[in-house]
Amino acid sequence: MTDRPISIKIAGAAARVVVPGDPFEVSCDSNGCRSNCCTMSAPIILNPYEIALICRERAMSYEDLLDIVETDRAKAFPLVMLPRDPACHFWTGKGCSIYRGRPLACRLYPLGRVFESGTSYLVHPELNICSGLTASPSPTVGDYLRSQDVELQMVMADHWIQFVSEIEQLPLQDSPVTSVAFHMLVYSPDTPPAQGPIDPTLSLEQRFLLRLETAKRQLPRFLKIA
Ligand code: SF4
Ligand code: SF4
Repeated sequence: MTDRPISIKIAGAAARVVVPGDPFEVSCDSNGCRSNCCTMSAPIILNPYEIALICRERAMSYEDLLDIVETDRAKAFPLVMLPRDPACHFWTGKGCSIYRGRPLACRLYPLGRVFESGTSYLVHPELNICSGLTASPSPTVGDYLRSQDVELQMVMADHWIQFVSEIEQLPLQDSPVTSVAFHMLVYSPDTPPAQGPIDPTLSLEQRFLLRLETAKRQLPRFLKIA
């Protein structure tokens, strides 16, 4: 017996909950497909770890990335989003130009990950159209996740979700100043992740975690909401 839901609503549409043992297989044509996950889709909300991966993969500055992404605020919380309509900036027509640094949403597609009441679920949203699904799959969801190398990104995403849930408790003002503070302290991989000397041997993951810890302390002071 399990308490996990069978289905969760996302944007008003059903998303079937899946587990690693469920049969699942996707065959992507290297030339892309007609129902492509890289085109004609909703923007991908990026976390700072994914931003750092993209900037490293393309050797680009955060300032240059800001010319590509869209920004917004949701209940005062600043967001950075990668548009996919009509096509993702990194789509070449034959594949992803930042494949090693692609975001978690791209690795999971057509699966997704949602948080409900503090629990994360893997889901297969009916809105995620994919022409590469195999009718009688023999591999499993777990095999697919391993093939897409999602484990580290899921761990980093969990840290991000924890950070967001803590910061959302602050009385953030829905203002440009809040956005500036987030771009500087949270999102930009080009600003130091902490004050003082930074160990140059820190990995991207260690810098991301250090940045979140620093931002938790500095955001309230910067925004004068301590
Ligand atoms: S980052 Fe790569 S895999 Fe993700 S939507 Fe863009 S082109 Fe596609
Ligand atoms: S995951 Fe599906 S939609 Fe995306 S490229 Fe592969 S076959 Fe196409």
